[in-house]
Amino acid sequence: MKTATMDLSSYIKDVPDFPKKGIVFKDMTPLLADAAAFAAAIDCLSEPFIGKGINIVAGIESRGFLLATPIAYRLNAGVVPLRKKGKLPRQTISANYVLEYGEETMEAHADAIRPDSRVLLVDDVLATGGTAEAACRLIEKLRGKIEGVAFLMELKFLNGRRKLDGRPIRSLLSY
Ligand code: AMP
Repeated sequence: MKTATMDLSSYIKDVPDFPKKGIVFKDMTPLLADAAAFAAAIDCLSEPFIGKGINIVAGIESRGFLLATPIAYRLNAGVVPLRKKGKLPRQTISANYVLEYGEETMEAHADAIRPDSRVLLVDDVLATGGTAEAACRLIEKLRGKIEGVAFLMELKFLNGRRKLDGRPIRSLLSY
């Protein structure tokens, strides 16, 4: 499997106590802003999924969109946004999930994923796994087949993988 020849971790900035006390926010914007680091990250995230017949890359709002879109282009696939409640203009289906302070709802256009869709799910960070698990449920409600799940970063100590039950996961940076 391809690994980046450059040290991508040096482009991630830790922001302590953001958005609230006790959270160390992993800011990927310096990586996105550097042409070589951005290209290396997109290439490495895409590479294991080339030739796997993926026709949809689903990105989780909102930072997931910034990675899902170039990965979709690289895989010659379409891109589908998974959005917060009320943002998509046409008929949607939804999945609920629990965050630290209450419940959230994620939505997709009901016709965005079809029973023959082979889907790669993408987000910036895998933390507890609740968000990605809800996204998997949403895709599977539409009978899409999840071929893989890709994250730029994984917070291993939160063991989010456990919630994704054996689906092929690619993460570039582990903490
Ligand atoms: P979780 O559902 O706990 O796996 O959280 C994943 C979602 O929350 C992703 O969409 C991330 O963008 C965001 N997230 C969680 N923890 C962090 C973090 N430390 N830094 C940046 N984003 C985070």
